Order: sequence, then structure tokens, then C-alpha cells
Amino acid sequence: MAAQSKIPQATAKRLPLYYRFLNNLQVQGKSRVSSKELSEAVKVDSATIRRDFSYFGALGKKGYGYNVEYLLGFFRKTLDQDETTYVALIGVGNLGTAFLHYNFTKNNNTRIEMAFDADPNKVGQEIGGVPVYHIDDLEERINHVQAAILTVPGAEAQTITERLMESGITGILNFTPARITVPEEVRVHHIDLAVELQSLIYFMKHYPLEIE
Ligand code: ATP
Repeated sequence: MAAQSKIPQATAKRLPLYYRFLNNLQVQGKSRVSSKELSEAVKVDSATIRRDFSYFGALGKKGYGYNVEYLLGFFRKTLDQDETTYVALIGVGNLGTAFLHYNFTKNNNTRIEMAFDADPNKVGQEIGGVPVYHIDDLEERINHVQAAILTVPGAEAQTITERLMESGITGILNFTPARITVPEEVRVHHIDLAVELQSLIYFMKHYPLEIE
């Protein structure tokens, strides 16, 4: 991801959003898009979009907009869309099962390749086309996997994280309420759904959006 090191992190975070929308436009046969149109669809103000896109070397022309094909080509390269990233899911409970059924490949080349659980009733099953292995076999099975989704109970999170680190995993999407400790070179994104929901409700009550 050479290009990504040159663009600001905030811009990089918006890339998948832009990518998804532009992909849909291409499917609809559209060859260009204005920053206004983009802005309304992805809910990012058009000044930010123009600044973001200038990092991609895409300077929209007045009255023309942006070339969809060019942008998609750039995003594909930057987001490594040409290369599949293999992901493992640990903990096939309610949330984990939902992720296995969710088709991540709709928009990009990320794929959950295997899942692990400690429950013998779940081991050996195939859910959403993904095989479920016993957690005891983690080290043996996980070799080419790069990232993991953690959907185990919070109390299990740290122990499993350490085993994942030992196996060379460098990215974790942590859905458990536990804050996990990892070495500096490992990236963790923490998504606590209960906290997110609570936070949404708090903001709705205390910071209602004003309609202009
Ligand atoms: P369910 O109702 O299917 O148990 P849940 O999401 O309410 O789902 P949790 O207790 O959060 O259940 O556990 C999530 C999943 O993690 C379960 O499938 C459980 O078997 C699994 N699990 C628990 N401990 C471990 C572990 N040490 N290693 C791997 N998987 C584990």
C-alpha cells in the first residue's frame, strides 16, 4: 500500500466509503460523478471530498466532475483490492455466526476463510461456507491468515489475542467488550456495539441535530 503512506489517515479511512459508492456507480454504467453528488451519497462535505481526491491525483474538472474509472483504478490499487486478504473469526456465537453469513466480498476482496470455537457442537460445521475448527487447532490451521475478528466472551479475549500474535496475525477487529493489550506493531480496531448504541442514544438526547 505504497500510496496510502502518503495520504492522511483521516482520508484513508474514507477510502472504503468512496470505493463502495463509486463501484455502485460503475455497475450502473456511470462514467463520471460530481463532488456534490458524491457528497450527498457518502455524507462527507464536498470541500473535504475535493481535498481527499487531490491526494489521489484526481482533480475534478468544473462542469465535468470526476472520472469514475480512474478513481476506481486508484482505489483498487490503494486498498489492495486485487489481492485477497484472509481473515479468521474466533467465537462462533450469535454475533460471530452473523458475520459468517454476512457477505463481505460484496464490496471488496476480504474473506473470512476459517472460524474457531471451543464448543464441540459448533466444531466441524460449515457456516456461511466457512469451516469451523476447534480453538485447540488454531496454530496449526491459521498459517496464511493476516487478520482476525474476535467475537468470543470478553474474558477469553486476551488469551486468544496472545495466541493470534504468536501465529503472526497483525490486525484484530475486536468486538468483545475487553480492551486487549498487543505489541506496537499490531493494529487493533475495537468495536463495542453496546457502547456505540449507548453513545448514539446519549447524543440523540443531548445533542439533537438542528435542521437548518
Ligand atoms: P451463543 O448463544 O451461541 O453462545 P453468544 O454470542 O451469546 O452466543 P458468547 O458467550 O459471547 O455467546 O460466546 C461466543 C462464542 O465464543 C460461543 O460460540 C463460544 O462457544 C465461543 N467461545 C467461548 N470461549 C471460547 C474460547 N476460549 N475459544 C474459542 N471460542 C470460545
